[in-house]
Amino acid sequence: MDFISPSMIKRIAAKYDFKFKKGLGQNFLSSQEILEEIADAAGICGANALEIGPGFGVLTNELAKQAKKVVALEIDERLIPILGDTLSEYDNVTIINRDIMKTDISDIIKKEFDGERISIAANLPYYITTPIITTVLESKLPIDNFVVMVQKEVALRLGAKPGTKDYGAISVLCQYYTEPEIICTVPAELFVPAPKVDSAVLRMKFRETTAVSVKDENMFFKTVKAAFSQRRKTLLNCLLSNFTHGREKLVEIMNSVGIDPKRRGETLSLEEFARLADALK
Ligand code: SAM
Repeated sequence: MDFISPSMIKRIAAKYDFKFKKGLGQNFLSSQEILEEIADAAGICGANALEIGPGFGVLTNELAKQAKKVVALEIDERLIPILGDTLSEYDNVTIINRDIMKTDISDIIKKEFDGERISIAANLPYYITTPIITTVLESKLPIDNFVVMVQKEVALRLGAKPGTKDYGAISVLCQYYTEPEIICTVPAELFVPAPKVDSAVLRMKFRETTAVSVKDENMFFKTVKAAFSQRRKTLLNCLLSNFTHGREKLVEIMNSVGIDPKRRGETLSLEEFARLADALK
């Protein structure tokens, strides 16, 4: 595939009479520079890559140059013959016509990658951003890097620190399993067609061990969810609505781990959530 540019994406669309489907989040990236940044961030030199939503195959093309094998899952069957053409020079690419939301990634790892470690790269369709990210983060599969292009505000939320307006349960989930890093921001005009908002490339590098160790992960995430359930309320009131311990007991538990019951949930660090969840257990 030649150097990617907006005119090239438009040429491919015209050649195949392809009409972009907004409902499938079809905003195709048209910057060679950003494509290379995503592929480099995935760190797949000689390793395996899974791509979600290849579109015309512009990112697949960059991944295929570096990877041992690339498997790309595309829901839109109109794109399958186009991908056959645009990626014809590679023998290390497998395209599968499938909905990622109905796909068991562990099955793909077993069948397509012989159970080996993979990295995942995707310019994600915006309508399934959160469920895909949550599924991959919680999957406990052999994944090294998860590099995604998402709306800029989503990238900021995933990497947000305690006490900031962007910090939420998904920030804790992301940082518990991975080290997130914004690689670059991407203006809307670098896509064809251009979406309404800017995007960012976020790399989530999976940690060898989780950021904090907890007695019970379910309790950890239940505590986090409860703490963020009503942002204007104190942590104590949030916990009261989600646990059966009773006010006095909760105050005692919070004091025992050095957390002021009057604090707001969104000010707690991962370490504090871990201490609190262990004490609640
Ligand atoms: N990777 C291409 C690029 O960077 O230009 C296309 C990215 S475009 C934002 C998202 C792609 O995901 C589209 O090709 C769309 O058809 C595909 N897609 C949307 N929903 C999907 C799903 N549930 N499973 C797999 N692919 C999906």
